[in-house]
Amino acid sequence: MKSYCHQRAGGAPWDLPLGKIVCVGRNYADHAKELNNPIPKQPLLFIKPATAAVPMVEPIVIPYDQGECHHELEMALLVGRELKDADPADIPAAIVAIGLGLDLTLRDVQSRLKEKGQPWERAKAFDASCPLSEFVEPAGIDLNNLSLQLYRNDRLKQSGNTQDMLFSPALLLADISRVFTLLPGDVVMTGTPAGVGPLLSGDRLRAELGDVLSVETTVA
Ligand code: ZN
Repeated sequence: MKSYCHQRAGGAPWDLPLGKIVCVGRNYADHAKELNNPIPKQPLLFIKPATAAVPMVEPIVIPYDQGECHHELEMALLVGRELKDADPADIPAAIVAIGLGLDLTLRDVQSRLKEKGQPWERAKAFDASCPLSEFVEPAGIDLNNLSLQLYRNDRLKQSGNTQDMLFSPALLLADISRVFTLLPGDVVMTGTPAGVGPLLSGDRLRAELGDVLSVETTVA
């Protein structure tokens, strides 16, 4: 397997090793509702290992023998310093860069796991389940007001704004840091807005984060 490394806009590598990807489920009320899930009272957390990360610009390889594989477009935060029991006020300085990520989800597998009350890793943490874009420095960008769009074959499928997050980036990272120490190079996926749906071989995808990032890719 090719090893992944974080990329800057323009393609130079960030000198930060990816350790883990901490993901947040149901952080937008409209997405929680579309899957008939309750609105969480505290962030719903799960982890993808470093082996889940792949560059988003390369053709996305998904499993085809386990039912539907859904796209979940999310703002991704690149952590620049160690965070443990962090104060929300200290979070902005610790976010060294922002990007886009796809939290690929084997939805049929996940539904079966949910029914049995089992962990989601088989549905969410498989190899290449987290395509990541390049990362740009957040200077001058309001992380709490950024639009997110995913076009599939030129049709708008997902559209949201980070202002509709149930837990803001600062609250999320502070909360996460009370459970998992965040290390430089770790990534936090901040949850997906409504409009998730299945991917098929040959799909063309375009993902946008405000006017900060636009990424085009395909499904292999
Ligand atoms: Zn997600």
